[in-house]
Amino acid sequence: MAFERISDLGDLSGKRALVRVDLNVPMQGGIVTDDTRLQAVKPTVDAVIAAGGRCVLLAHFGRPKGQIVPEMSLRPVVPALAEVLGRPVGFNLLGEVLSNENVIVLENTRFEAGEEKNDSELASRYAALGDVYINDAFSCAHRAHASTEALARLLPAAAGETMGAELAALDNALGTPKPPVVAVVGGAKVSSKLAVLENLVTRVDHLIIGGGMANTFLYAQGVDVGASLCEKDLKETALAILANAEKAGCQVHLPVDVVVAKEFKTNAENKTVAIDDVASDEMILDAGPETVTMLCKVLESADTLVWNGPMGAFEMEPFDQATVALAQKAASLTEKGALLSVAGGGDTVAALAHAGAKNSFTHISTAGGAFLEWMEGRVLPGVEALTS
Ligand code: ADP
Ligand code: MG
Repeated sequence: MAFERISDLGDLSGKRALVRVDLNVPMQGGIVTDDTRLQAVKPTVDAVIAAGGRCVLLAHFGRPKGQIVPEMSLRPVVPALAEVLGRPVGFNLLGEVLSNENVIVLENTRFEAGEEKNDSELASRYAALGDVYINDAFSCAHRAHASTEALARLLPAAAGETMGAELAALDNALGTPKPPVVAVVGGAKVSSKLAVLENLVTRVDHLIIGGGMANTFLYAQGVDVGASLCEKDLKETALAILANAEKAGCQVHLPVDVVVAKEFKTNAENKTVAIDDVASDEMILDAGPETVTMLCKVLESADTLVWNGPMGAFEMEPFDQATVALAQKAASLTEKGALLSVAGGGDTVAALAHAGAKNSFTHISTAGGAFLEWMEGRVLPGVEALTS
């Protein structure tokens, strides 16, 4: 996908860039507890300032729904941002005369009723504050809001450094990937990822289905899944996805053995059984070792991996084992240069970190909803607005 970059915006000296960023950081008692998202702002701010420009940062915080909610002000984020950027950072409300700093944070965009309505009048008020627009918040690009979409139509617009890197990494994984491509889709429910599965079967060579969602597919194929999490009403849907996969030449991999327990808790008494040996009072909480061996071979045969959703109830030991083993396999193949690996999703990122594999992946997306919509094959409105 061709989109404009900062260098396409021409001479920035003396100009002001409106930069949409993600400042939705975790806070406790007015203190930022994780500055990952603030770090992600730095490359674009540095690039604009190096080009002689100044930045007005637009961002939302929480869900104030068009009301001024003082606890959701962006003001407490400013000192932490200034520290990460290594520069003074000003703070203004929309409508105030902008202060003198080279970097200014504007108050929570969602305090404005027009923001989530993609209101063109609000976008015009933002546009009046700058000369060019840069979107550096991929995590917000699935929403057509005034600061992510309408504004991009009013000024010369480009993707920022962090967003550009994310789009390039995602394109390498699903847009124009090197085959064979394998997708891992796991997690709790099929219903939350139907569109993802439907898109992937037409795009990848291997689809590994794990976690609770595998149970629904196994059930659809006539397997007794006992007391497992299972969406029985999605039987026909699951069968249709399998049929589409076959038509598209996508090989689907489901567990052949599983770890079962009678209680859903850490260190619950458990055993490994073949997939047709699950008792009526047992729950499938992880894939078994035979499945892991089989899936590692699939990873070895692949050149590209895209992963969303854990293979089991990984938060509870020992039901993290299949997820950990597969994550470590993907990490070591990536380190060897044999695999391009991209993963995303809140629980997935936590699971990869738990496995000690996170830093070895080619790219980890921290964008939850936007990452899933991208896996659904959708064009994100905030990205579309930046296309050349
Ligand atoms: P992500 O946040 O990465 O998109 P999901 O939210 O879809 O992932 O799925 C993660 C959840 O799925 C985890 O809480 C995990 O415990 C749960 N899960 C995985 N396998 C099972 C299973 N066999 N039974 C019940 N829950 C499971
Ligand atoms: Mg989740």
